[in-house]
Amino acid sequence: MEDCIFCKIVDGKIPAAKVYEDVKVISFLDIMPANKGHCLVIPKKHSENLTEMNEDDSASLINAARKIAKALSLSFGNAGFNIIMNNGKEAGQIVNHAHIHIIPRFQKDRLRIKWSHIKYGENEINEYADKIRKFI
Ligand code: 5GP
Ligand code: ZN
Repeated sequence: MEDCIFCKIVDGKIPAAKVYEDVKVISFLDIMPANKGHCLVIPKKHSENLTEMNEDDSASLINAARKIAKALSLSFGNAGFNIIMNNGKEAGQIVNHAHIHIIPRFQKDRLRIKWSHIKYGENEINEYADKIRKFI
């Protein structure tokens, strides 16, 4: 993918503050972090999003994210963290190379990742479950 900024990072064509690398995955610091220490974990092979990846590659990505989250938390004295993956532009994905965000959290940081809750109508929750199950 010639125009993909994350493929360029994988190929070493543009620099990144790398924290982890294995055969399938690399992780580096987000250049515009939500909190300092914010990491991105990406597959080396270009895929647009999670559902485009095969089972093996997605398992490697998520396993690497777990390792990095642990290291990130320990590096800040057991801090909490949020793991977020934006898939699709409606979900806020800007870079179209699959990536997982790991964001360290601190007491009284100013980051807000909370949504307001809505309600289902009568039996609507089961209709939604049926609808999703049909595609699994
Ligand atoms: P998205 O909204 O697509 O889930 O997030 C993309 C993330 O990539 C953003 O948080 C943005 O700061 C980060 N980003 C974009 N370009 C670069 C870059 O060239 N280097 C690094 N390290 N991060 C980038
Ligand atoms: Zn790419």
